Amino acid sequence: MAHATSFDDAMELLERLRALAADGERAALDARITELGEKLDAARREADQLQERIASLEAENRTLKQAAAGSDEPVEVKNGCYRFDGDDALYCPLCWDNKRHKARTTRISSRQRVCGTCRSPISA
Ligand SMILES: [Zn+2]
Repeated sequence: MAHATSFDDAMELLERLRALAADGERAALDARITELGEKLDAARREADQLQERIASLEAENRTLKQAAAGSDEPVEVKNGCYRFDGDDALYCPLCWDNKRHKARTTRISSRQRVCGTCRSPISA
């Protein structure tokens, strides 16, 4: 992983800095400090890129979830009406087939229902 590499490089440089400081090597110390700053900048840029990637994956995940939720199909035909998963209500097949609209129906007699949206009578 790219960001782990930059981070590991920075940690390694830090170890070398400690050794140089112990030896009193001033010029080499300054050069390593500059290098360390560059590595930390690179690590931060890589972390920013990962952050953007995460945000984009989260957005994609939301879109996929919405698509999955919107793809429900009738699971049963009952009394001439459609029934959907997890829902006991009976819906108008005409409204669903023509407009993908879930329109509830109302019972008007033992064998007939009517759509609340298009007013079509539906018989069993
Ligand atoms: Zn209808």
